[in-house]
Parts: sequence; structure tokens; C-alpha cells
Amino acid sequence: MSADYNQLLDATIQHLEDLKSRGVRNVAVSKETLRALAQPAAKPQISNLKSQIQPAAPVAKTEPAISMPAKKITVPAPVAAPKSEITSSSPEKSAAFTALRERALSCVKCPHLASSRKNVVFGVGSIEAQLMFVGEAPGADEDEQGEPFVGRAGQLLSKIILATGLSRADVYIANILKCRPDTPGQSAGNRPPTPEERATCIPYLQEQIDLIKPKVIVALGATAVDGLLGKTPGITKLRGNWQTYRGTPLMPTYHPAYLLRNQAMSEKRKVWEDILKVMEKLEMPVSEKQRNFFLKA
Ligand code: URA
Repeated sequence: MSADYNQLLDATIQHLEDLKSRGVRNVAVSKETLRALAQPAAKPQISNLKSQIQPAAPVAKTEPAISMPAKKITVPAPVAAPKSEITSSSPEKSAAFTALRERALSCVKCPHLASSRKNVVFGVGSIEAQLMFVGEAPGADEDEQGEPFVGRAGQLLSKIILATGLSRADVYIANILKCRPDTPGQSAGNRPPTPEERATCIPYLQEQIDLIKPKVIVALGATAVDGLLGKTPGITKLRGNWQTYRGTPLMPTYHPAYLLRNQAMSEKRKVWEDILKVMEKLEMPVSEKQRNFFLKA
């Protein structure tokens, strides 16, 4: 078989694996393509074959077009968790995390979410992280990009992380729910996860935490706090006070989306004070400047 044909086969397999990893279970294949596939030795019609294999279920709009120039083969970039490199000094840990991610990416335990989602939003960051942030559920931007906290609230979370001296790549970020809660009949907006959705999805998060073994978890908002700790007196009472999740110190704080709704300096300062406690617990250096963020001049 020609090198071109093998390249084509590899690219097609990779394309199908990628679709599968995003939960696509069926692809539409034309009769012509099936006929072409039945004759592997025939000169391959590269551009035709690739473009004819289309997912039967919707996938992310951001997926780059598949182009197959004569010499260079371009395969779609992975859409789900693109920046989450699963690397660890322990091959067993990397393998276990990869297997967990694959299970989550093909999960259909909530059929309504599996059919409405564009991407499973597994998590992003370092699996060696000492610090893990847990949010509620993906919104439209996260669903589109396959990465948690990339919308407006996510940009604010990134700023908070950077203010500690860390970057998103140093920490791990995940949600209680891996799929965007559907909003049938609505073209925009979010809804909180139902108790059933939470209970169904949370084992994935528990396994993520068990494998990463962060030194500190920051739970962002009421859904994350209740999801991890069970029924609580509420985020307003709990925030800023250390809790424990299966032996790991957990700091409840407000969700960044709350800070976007309530721009008061006092609320920003509360979150920052919670983060200062986290930095101290992790024995991170805290500068005078950092200590004074969001204090009135
Ligand atoms: N809000 C969340 O709780 N999680 C996200 O990933 C984005 C917004």
C-alpha cells in the first residue's frame, strides 16, 4: 500500500477517534465512500474520503476544517481539554488519568446532556497540581471549547490565579458537572445542575481529586461547596472558613460569576482574603503588595 494511503488511513482513524472521544457514536458515510473503502488498493481520493465522513451528532463549531493537501495531512486539533497535558512522573498516574478522561468523554449517563452537549468539559491543568479549583458546570463558552472557565467568569478566575503568582497550567480546574446543563427551548442562559445530574457526575470529580491529590481544594460557589461537602449552611456563612473534603483542606469562596454581578470592592476583597489563606496553607510567599490587594487606599 502507498505511503499516501497509509497516511490517509491514519488521519481517518485519528479523526474518528477524535469524534468518538467527544461522544459522537455514529457517522454518516456515503455509498461512494463505502465503495472506495472496499477498494483499499485503488488510488485514494483523499479530499473526498475525508470530507465524506461527517459526524451524525453535532460537534464543536470551533473544530478546524479538515484539510488534506497533497503532501501535508492536517488532522483536527483535539477540542476537548486542549491544554490539559496528562503528564506525571508516574506513568501509572498518567495512564489512570487518561483512562478516567476517556470514560468521562464518552459518558452518556445523562442522555439529555449527552445529546445537547458539544463537548464534555473534563478539566484542565496539571495533574501534579497542589491547588485545585472546582466550579459548578460548563457554560456556553466552556461547552464550545471543551475547557472549564474560559468565559467571562473564567477570565476572572485566571486573573485571580495569576495574582497568586501561579498560572492556569500550575493548578487543576474542574467542575461538579462535566456537561453543560441543557436549557431546552432557550437559545442562551445557564441553569444550575439538578441534584440527579450532580449525583451522577460527581464520581468523575472524586476520581480526579483522588488521582491528583491536591494539597488544597478551592470550591467556587454554592454548587461546588454543596456538591463536595453535602448540605451546608450556605456559601455566605461558609466562605473563608476551612473545611475538609475526604481529608483534603477545602476553602469555600464565592464563584467568580458572583464577583462579575457584584462589583463591590468589599466582595472582591473577601475572595482575595480566602485566596491569601490558601496561599498561606500552601506555604507560598505573599508579598506586601499581594496582601493589600483590594484594600481601599
Ligand atoms: N462556571 C463554572 O462553574 N464553571 C465553568 O467552567 C465556567 C463557568
